[in-house]
Amino acid sequence: MPCVLLNLCEYDTQKLVKIKSVKLGSLKWTLNGVILMFICIMMLWNKEYQEYDFVVSSVTTKVKGVAKITSPEVGDVWDVVDYSGPSQGKNSFFVATNAIITKNQKQGKCAEVLPNGKLCQTDKDCEKGFSDQHNHGVQTGACVKLDILKKTCEVTAWCPIENKKSPRPALLAAAENFTVMIKNNIRFPAFNYIRRNILSEMKDTDLKGCIYHRYKNPYCPIFRLGDIVAEAKEKFSEMAVEGGVIGIQINWDCDLNRFFHSCLPKYSFRRLDEKESNRTLYPGLNFRFARYSTVNGVEQRTLFKMYGIRFDVMVFGKAGKFSFIQLIIYIGSTLSYYAITTIFLDWLIGTGCYSKEAKQNYTERKFEAVQDREECFLCVSFVDEDNLRVVKKSRKKRLQETKPLSLHQRKNELASMKTLLSVLQCGQSRSEPVQNGQSCGLKVDENLPSRHSGRQNPDTPLLETSQSSSPSWCQCGSCRPAETLQEQLCCRLKKGRCITSSPLFSSLVVSRSVLENTLLFVDPLAELHEEAQLRHGAYAQFIRWRFGDSTPRDALPVIPSCCIWRIRAKYPSPDGTYSGLRPFQAITSQTELNR
Ligand code: ZN
Ligand code: ZN
Repeated sequence: MPCVLLNLCEYDTQKLVKIKSVKLGSLKWTLNGVILMFICIMMLWNKEYQEYDFVVSSVTTKVKGVAKITSPEVGDVWDVVDYSGPSQGKNSFFVATNAIITKNQKQGKCAEVLPNGKLCQTDKDCEKGFSDQHNHGVQTGACVKLDILKKTCEVTAWCPIENKKSPRPALLAAAENFTVMIKNNIRFPAFNYIRRNILSEMKDTDLKGCIYHRYKNPYCPIFRLGDIVAEAKEKFSEMAVEGGVIGIQINWDCDLNRFFHSCLPKYSFRRLDEKESNRTLYPGLNFRFARYSTVNGVEQRTLFKMYGIRFDVMVFGKAGKFSFIQLIIYIGSTLSYYAITTIFLDWLIGTGCYSKEAKQNYTERKFEAVQDREECFLCVSFVDEDNLRVVKKSRKKRLQETKPLSLHQRKNELASMKTLLSVLQCGQSRSEPVQNGQSCGLKVDENLPSRHSGRQNPDTPLLETSQSSSPSWCQCGSCRPAETLQEQLCCRLKKGRCITSSPLFSSLVVSRSVLENTLLFVDPLAELHEEAQLRHGAYAQFIRWRFGDSTPRDALPVIPSCCIWRIRAKYPSPDGTYSGLRPFQAITSQTELNR
């Protein structure tokens, strides 16, 4: 039971339609070829067959150089200890380029400098004990002379207070010629691959002579600071005044496959702090530090405000190696691209751009419409039209005038019809006297159209009345008014002869002997004593003739009014009542006949 409930015992597969067309076939293979080419190019271009791992790295730096300075305040020479300053963190180094030095500061009282303090006239303007984050010290409450013209509040602070602008040109502009050696060890853990930007076989003498920008050798990790700043599109002498931040990017793009092995660092340089906004507020990079000493028992300090350039070393990188699993995953991800071919070809056929005939044929074969039971579709066959029409039951329009939803080609079932005919004709000739000497020829029964048109036949009294008042929708002149819109259907689309006037209608549909034989063909021991049996047999015969197996599933074939009345005239109901069209019964041609 769970097998049935969960559909475990079922497998659903798709039904495909094979269109035999050279054009469509070659178009399909062309498109598939283009897609395959695209996939291959993308695979080689992006190395999609590789497995990747990202770099793990460590960086150490060493700056070298000596600068000769002309300023007497600073001294004559600065070496690496003087200009490097405190470490600025992981993977970066600092080089001082400019300085404001305030020597021999002692704790005491002095006038606050501008613009940190405020101007005053008398002691009343100054508040004793006041200080804020801009002040260099705590106010004493006195107003003292700053220079000849101005007076400011006195503070308790390290005096004299630092009061200078950054020197221009920068004091340590010679730092341009310093060099830095960057040592970078990298590792790709997934491949257990270790490398360094200095080759193990390089000697100390190789490194001493090399400068990266001079030789562009990726294995020469010694850089001149001026070259680094120049490559970051900055001027060292300008940048040295206020300081800044420069990024050194090392990019490792490694191919670890045996035949294409390559793993070289690529260096690039750029300024990281924004130059433009730096011009206005808090430009550059600076910090303060002091050196303390005691002179005659009094503590003194020398205050340094250092400007400089910080170099941040950033390491990026990934390594790729061929991986069969990656290749399969990539191929799998590209399979959906082939759907483009199907979508394109379906669109081409569906829009009719390719050919109208193909569209009709293809749509008919490809799409099988299954209708909701609530909706009723009817199938109509006009004698002056090749196709069968499927129409939706309308509440406003007559069946005769309803527009078709689709057209279906009438299938030629001559073979089956021929067999039927030969059986029937033989049966007919057996039960009725042969008039023209043929034993098994096509024979017209007693209701010949010529006789019928004379309207003297007692079988057809109804036809006579209908003829004079054939309704407006009738095109053949033999239909009768009907109440429901679904019964208002003629055998023709345009004016002309009625199908009931065809000799075959008489012989095939209404001939008593043919109908009896047909009924016996289905049920050999049937007892045929009711007219209703023959009437229903005639309806079935008409549908077999005019619709055959061409009726689309779920559509109900409808017999035109003229034919119905012609059959009814031949095989009337004893009480004169007929049930009419009952479309909401289960839709099979068998139930349709019960009217
Ligand atoms: Zn008609
Ligand atoms: Zn007709």
